[in-house]
Amino acid sequence: MRFEIVTIFPGFFAGIFENGILRRALAEGLVTVGVHDLRAFTHDRHRTVDDRPFGGGEGMVLKPEPLAEALASLGIQPKAERLKGTGFSPYVDAASEPRALALEGNISEESLPASRPRVILLSAQGRPFTQALARELAADERVVLVCGRYEGVDERINHIYCDMELSIGDYVLSGGELAAAVVIDATMRLLPGVLGNEASGEFESFGVADAEIAVAEDGVPRSQHGAGGLLDYPHYTRPADFGGLRVPETLLNGDHSEIRRWRREQQLRKTLANRPDLLEGATLSKEDRKLLEAIRLEAE
Ligand code: SAM
Repeated sequence: MRFEIVTIFPGFFAGIFENGILRRALAEGLVTVGVHDLRAFTHDRHRTVDDRPFGGGEGMVLKPEPLAEALASLGIQPKAERLKGTGFSPYVDAASEPRALALEGNISEESLPASRPRVILLSAQGRPFTQALARELAADERVVLVCGRYEGVDERINHIYCDMELSIGDYVLSGGELAAAVVIDATMRLLPGVLGNEASGEFESFGVADAEIAVAEDGVPRSQHGAGGLLDYPHYTRPADFGGLRVPETLLNGDHSEIRRWRREQQLRKTLANRPDLLEGATLSKEDRKLLEAIRLEAE
C-alpha cells in the first residue's frame, strides 16, 4: 500500500516514520509513503501557497493551483475523469456540475472502486475517522492525503479532486499533518504482515465481531474474541502486586474460559463507562446483554 502526503511542511514527517511498527513496515516494503512539498508546485519568487479569503474574514486559504499541480504530478486527475466509464458518479448529487460547487462532493466509501487511488482531504469538517474506515482504507492500494493549513483549503480542490473529507476528531488542529500521520498509523497496522500477531488488529478496541474472525475457542485467550465494536479490556503484566493493587485473580488462575468471560465483562464495563454510544452499534450476545443489565443495576 502506498500513501502520498501533500503538505507545506514535509519536514514534519521526518521523525514520524522512524519508530516502531511503522518503521518496520516501511523497511520491509509493506507500506511506502511519499511526502510532497506543496511549495514545489508554485511559480513565484515567494513560493506562495496561500491567499486571502474571498468575502473577507480572518486567516489565509491554501490556493487551488499549487494543490491541483501537486495532485497532477501524482497522476491524480479530477475525480470526474478518474471515475469516467466506471458507472460511478463523482458527486452525491449526480446532476451537480463541478463548477456548480455544491458542497456534497464526497464519494461514499462503498461507491469507490477499490483499485483507484483514494484522495482524502484532512479537515475538521470531515466525516469522522474510525477503525472501520481504517479497515476500509487498508484495502486500498493508494491513498493520497491532502493536508490543509491556515483557514483550510480552497473548497474547489475538495470538490474537484477529493473522494472524502476526513476528520480525526471534534477539535481543530493547526494543520492536516498530524491527522495524516494518525490515518497512516491506524491504517498501516491493519495491513497483512505489519503486526507481529496477524490477528491482533481484530482483537482490540473497535475490533470486528466473532462471526467475522476465524477464532479458535481453545488455547490461550488473546481476548474474549472479536471486540464486536466494544472497547478493549484492561491489560496487566508483571509484577502481580503493584502500588498496593493486585492483578485480578482470574488472570492468574489459568482457566481460559473464565479469563475470556472476565475480559468480556471488563469490555462491557469500560465501554459502558467511557463510550456508552458504542453499545448501540456493538455486536452483543445474549450473555453480553445480561451482563450489561447486571452492571447497570449494580451502578444504580
Ligand atoms: N477553518 C477550519 C475549520 O474551522 O474547520 C480549520 C482549519 S485548521 C486551522 C487547518 C487545517 O488543519 C485544516 O485545513 C485541516 O487540514 C487540518 N485539520 C484541523 N482539524 C482537523 C481535524 N480535526 N481532522 C483532520 N484535519 C484537521
